[in-house]
Amino acid sequence: MTRQILVTSALPYANGAIHLGHLVEYIQTDIWVRFQKMRGHACWYVCADDTHGTPIMLRADKEGISPEELIARVHQEHTRDFAGFHVAFDNYHSTHSEETRFFANDIYGKLKAAGLIEVRAIEQFYDPVKGMFLPDRYIKGECPKCGAADQYGDSCEACGAAYAPTDLKNPVSAVSGAVPVRKSSDHYFFKLSDPRCQEFLRRATREVCKTQPEAVNKLQEWLGEEGENKLTDWDISRDAPYFGFEIPDAPGKYFYVWLDAPIGYFGSLKHLAARRPEIDVAAFTRPGGGTEMYHFVGKDILYFHALFWPAELAHAGYRIPTAVFAHGFLTVDGQKMSKSRGTFITAESYLKQGLNPEWLRYYYAAKLNASMEDIDLNLDDFIARVNSDLVGKYVNIASRCAGFIHKRFGGKLAAVSGDLLADVQTAGEAIAAHYESREYGKALREVMALADRANQFVNDHAPWELAKKEGADAELHRVCSEALNLFRLLTIYLKPVLPKLAADVEAFLKVAPLAWADAATLLPGGHVIGEYKHLTTRVERKQIDALVEANRESLAPAAAPQPHSQQRHAEHQQHVAGATAASPSPQPSPRGGEGVSGGAFAPTIGIDDFSKVDLRVARIALAEHVEGAEKLIKLTLDLGTETRTVFAGIKSAYDPATLTGRLTVMVANLAPRKMKFGLSEGMVLAASGEGPGIFLLSPDSGAQPGMKVK
Ligand SMILES: [Zn+2]
Repeated sequence: MTRQILVTSALPYANGAIHLGHLVEYIQTDIWVRFQKMRGHACWYVCADDTHGTPIMLRADKEGISPEELIARVHQEHTRDFAGFHVAFDNYHSTHSEETRFFANDIYGKLKAAGLIEVRAIEQFYDPVKGMFLPDRYIKGECPKCGAADQYGDSCEACGAAYAPTDLKNPVSAVSGAVPVRKSSDHYFFKLSDPRCQEFLRRATREVCKTQPEAVNKLQEWLGEEGENKLTDWDISRDAPYFGFEIPDAPGKYFYVWLDAPIGYFGSLKHLAARRPEIDVAAFTRPGGGTEMYHFVGKDILYFHALFWPAELAHAGYRIPTAVFAHGFLTVDGQKMSKSRGTFITAESYLKQGLNPEWLRYYYAAKLNASMEDIDLNLDDFIARVNSDLVGKYVNIASRCAGFIHKRFGGKLAAVSGDLLADVQTAGEAIAAHYESREYGKALREVMALADRANQFVNDHAPWELAKKEGADAELHRVCSEALNLFRLLTIYLKPVLPKLAADVEAFLKVAPLAWADAATLLPGGHVIGEYKHLTTRVERKQIDALVEANRESLAPAAAPQPHSQQRHAEHQQHVAGATAASPSPQPSPRGGEGVSGGAFAPTIGIDDFSKVDLRVARIALAEHVEGAEKLIKLTLDLGTETRTVFAGIKSAYDPATLTGRLTVMVANLAPRKMKFGLSEGMVLAASGEGPGIFLLSPDSGAQPGMKVK
């Protein structure tokens, strides 16, 4: 059956360049879409620039251009960067469009008719010089908890406290430097606290995130227990001046950018449908249309897509997403992307340095799975993996055999069959299942295992030896033809990840664009292939060094407001149903304890890896409160021969008084870490699961401080 599928990636904010962190999501989505299309489904991939809000307005103002001019320029840059990485949207539109306005007004009108919009006066900081209300990230001042200077209006980067901007001490406007005044104004709220919304979300979040239990847990935590109603009403309006859509029946009030951003998915679809008459927009936007809708998003915007968005849709008579797929963030060499280290790498610079975009697509795919875990771009591993898999395994099959077919057999293949070919053909369905469930790493491991077998086949038959042997022509012909058939099958399985390379292979093999079903057949005897040309090159260390150098920035004072590396923009971080929802907490969720699990197991390690960790029995000589720290307890640990200071994040579970004197286990050779409150010289071991609680480990009685644990 042909499925009708609408797929989206989150809308990038029209305020900055696409970087390698963004590309995790677009490459992940693009692979999935290409796979669905190869399977013969009607799959539409739409996206758009997210164009509204205060940051766009202020940036345009600063550049002396109109917001429309700014978003037009950024739209061009984004389109260029995505195309450069072969991210093939069916439509890349803008939220500043009549199509998006149409759906925004319609959804708002229906929510209002359903009694889910409420007007309330709220008091906010107002910049009397600029004549505008200030979003939280545009107010700076001293942290009300720890007193750190120069903190934003929503949270403190020094102590991590979250608060309201009106709590800041000595606030100033980051826009003009003026002292803001408090001013009241009417705001429009979407009543998420309404029992209809709460009840709906309790059901819908389990459905929408069913492939990701960790996301369901997070969402249920945000929703709270039955009857707890943790979700507060959502402020969906902003006062003029604001770049966005004016609310139809409220002059001077505008839809908050986060209201119309996801609506932009429908806007982009409607815009596409104008030139693709086979798309029935209503079948994708109304319930019961027999279609599927999937949103790929970063875990930081899960609550917008799995709480606010479905609630809006359902209560306005629209369909809700079939599923939301959240992914983790990108780290580079194990750390957050950093401008000073040169690892905050833009898409443009990667392409400008002449690096092949398919190297990155392959590497990301090899690392991606269906979970919300972060993925790490390890630059040494990147070089090794691309060179070993793509060049050493995959392309190597063709490069060792194609020449003989061309020189000795006029480019004609022999008819072939056999167990190895049959095995590789049969493997297609398992590989397809991995793509379908977004387990790309598993798919590629299977493909590379098959490539190993194909290379073994070539090694065993050594065509270069056969070519020198009298009377071995038929054997040479058969071996090279079989190898090229294997190569073609592997190309089908790699095509969602490597579309450009697959197109080059299709041209070399002189075949029509490969679909997944083509794995059921082989190239027939007599099929004529083209001349083999180099398909890909090795990554050189010096290319990566040059890339990092090109992205290294000297540490200049950052202009306010500086968005976090992977967040779409600063304003997105505010007004999100209270600080608990906004700040993903490392603490276990306060949900019920049954079905406790620590998640998937880590990859197997050898005893050598394990024995690098020096575990020791330690006696807690002293446990103390830490002034100003919400989660930490300061432990003085007696190791028999010396004492160590360790800051442990166990305050939610233990009273320091109950800890002093007891034995526990610590990692004694962990590199010391400088924390805000002092140097932490190791860590203590504790268990935690998805349920509540932290459980410090203890040895059986008789153990002595300093004993090795192994
Ligand atoms: Zn603070």
